[in-house]
Amino acid sequence: MLKRKQFAVIGLGRFGSNVCKELYQLGHEVLAIDANESIVDSLKEFSSHAAVANATDERMLKSLGLRNFDFAIVAIGEHIQPSILCTLLLKEMGIKQVWVKAQNIQHFKVLEKIGADRIIQPEKEMAMRIAHQLDSEKIIDY
Ligand code: ATP
Repeated sequence: MLKRKQFAVIGLGRFGSNVCKELYQLGHEVLAIDANESIVDSLKEFSSHAAVANATDERMLKSLGLRNFDFAIVAIGEHIQPSILCTLLLKEMGIKQVWVKAQNIQHFKVLEKIGADRIIQPEKEMAMRIAHQLDSEKIIDY
């Protein structure tokens, strides 16, 4: 049987909350974190543990036990600064896999430099998938 993994999902907008729900549904242990209390409340039943926290607060991240997690997914939108700072803190804490959603190309480049393990560009990745699906659709021309 595959080992249950421990995931922390930080930033629970549309992207983060769906990643959180899906991982939890797949049977993994998921810690959901957001600065917004009502968003955290709405994820309680779709996560193993949900916490209100500022993702740039190093002490808070440590007290939540983040250093023991296998994976962290950072999906903070709005401003790129908290996303960058949080990524840096998680890498410094020794998390092996830190996957981060990028807002734009500048954000992408900074994330690359600071050691994000996978940089996600949801719209771009989805657009490519859809284009490939369309490409492989058979069009019968009568
Ligand atoms: P999506 O397209 O997935 O909805 P988005 O790019 O529009 O995402 P937002 O919804 O703006 O992103 O942000 C994602 C979440 O990150 C929000 O729920 C917000 O409360 C949270 N967030 C922003 N800054 C912080 C922070 N410093 N600490 C924790 N959570 C934060």
